[in-house]
Amino acid sequence: MQQIARSVALALNTLPKPHRVMLGSLTAMTLAVAIWQPLITHHDQNKETLVRKIELEASQHLTGTDASEPDDQTTPLPDDDLPADQKETESTQYAKEYTVSSGDTLSSVLNQYGIDLSNINALVGSDGALRNLNVGQSLNWQVTADGELDTLDWEISRRETRHYTRRPNGTYSMERQLQQGEWQDNRLAGTVKGSFASSAQQAGLSASEIASVIKALQWQMDFRKLRSGDQFSTIFSREVLAGKRMQSQLQAVRVRSAGKDYYAFRAEDGKFYDQNASGLAKGFLRFPTAKTYRVSSNFNPRRQNPVTGRITPHRGVDFAVPIGTPVLATGDGEVVVANAKGGAAGKYVAIRHGRQYMTRYMHLSRLLVKPGQKVKRGDRIALSGNTGRSTGPHLHFEIWINNQAVNPLTAKLPRMEGLTGKERKTYLAQVKAWQSQLTF
Ligand SMILES: [Zn+2]
Repeated sequence: MQQIARSVALALNTLPKPHRVMLGSLTAMTLAVAIWQPLITHHDQNKETLVRKIELEASQHLTGTDASEPDDQTTPLPDDDLPADQKETESTQYAKEYTVSSGDTLSSVLNQYGIDLSNINALVGSDGALRNLNVGQSLNWQVTADGELDTLDWEISRRETRHYTRRPNGTYSMERQLQQGEWQDNRLAGTVKGSFASSAQQAGLSASEIASVIKALQWQMDFRKLRSGDQFSTIFSREVLAGKRMQSQLQAVRVRSAGKDYYAFRAEDGKFYDQNASGLAKGFLRFPTAKTYRVSSNFNPRRQNPVTGRITPHRGVDFAVPIGTPVLATGDGEVVVANAKGGAAGKYVAIRHGRQYMTRYMHLSRLLVKPGQKVKRGDRIALSGNTGRSTGPHLHFEIWINNQAVNPLTAKLPRMEGLTGKERKTYLAQVKAWQSQLTF
């Protein structure tokens, strides 16, 4: 009976796409859709699945097959004693359920139950993946009255089952059945005490969920600067399949820090926007100057020093810029270095943009910013110069992505425009619903 109950549960969970069960006023309606849809649109398919599994269970009782012992082909079947005219009506087909254990192969499993090698070869011919069974997977198969392997179900994981059916010509067709769990929206909120990560963990967020919150708000705020008493509220869609959490997706987040609210919401395109449907990553300028200047030395991680002969990576690009040219921040961010003393780099500035990006500007003559200062894209941060180890007036410019220097002239930089038109309208309606749920 456990098998049947599980089959019913799986059938109900077989949704064509993730269904997000919303909290609040949408709950009842969405739930109705989630339950209604598989039963209506896949009515026949699910009915078949159920009937087949139930038959399977029943026929198992009839033949009394035992998982620990192969069928003995020499022992007469119970219906051998039946009169010949009754044999026609009694099915002699049987079904078997098997859990793969260490050392099993498809042919070793099926062979011990008397399945012909030609059937096994035809199966593998239809799907070579059957050569790689894993411990714990389950196999269910049915044999016809004349001993041919009729169908085989290979439950690869909770997510995927492959169903093989014998064709009249002896080959097998394969059908994949992907099980989708139920998506449910969860509101998780808390108050910061100590670090954000530990506070969020206390509120029930997993490590990857915490990372997704920090990433969604990376352009607006620095989580390391949250203070005790700051508040956060999040909505995650979590997929639950057979009682286990499969995956999770951040839908909406609100953080209140020092009395100010920061928001990010996921749009249909999977990207995050703020409460006004504006893009959160504001995009970068390609060049740190108002005009473009000649490149005097390219980015070259394998550059050989002409004097010493050593490999000294050139982690940026040099522009032939006259001394005193205004140098601009190429993106919104925070100044992390404003070094006026100068070593080889001369006077230089480094700016952090969100979590992944950093830009650096070297050989400057005068600094116009201080460490910790917030800057906007296009702000003047310094005047160019010829300080440090430099053979002439130039601006050395670097872009780092995830702690790796990249070519500033070709690097992929975030460009996020806001939503417009219909997408914007849909998004703002969704934001309204979410905002009312993002309570502390
Ligand atoms: Zn350089």
